Amino acid sequence: MRVVVDLNRCQGYAQCAFLAPDVFAMHGEEALLYDARPDDTRRADVLRAVAACPVRAITVEGAGGRWTADRVGASDGA
Ligand code: SF4
Repeated sequence: MRVVVDLNRCQGYAQCAFLAPDVFAMHGEEALLYDARPDDTRRADVLRAVAACPVRAITVEGAGGRWTADRVGASDGA
């Protein structure tokens, strides 16, 4: 699968790093590092991170489709 994070949206809340630490990691307080091609065994964790991101910055492609915060059932985040 392929992971894309819109770094213009990302505010460094680190929800993704908490939920999928094999894929996302914070570097310092605000810089996000991530594996853009994680193994499919990480799929459940990554989709949890997609849903949890408060600013809906994460998109996943290839894990049975294209996954955005809307598709995995994230709340509005407001
Ligand atoms: S959860 Fe969203 S805003 Fe927070 S670090 Fe991850 S991508 Fe950025």
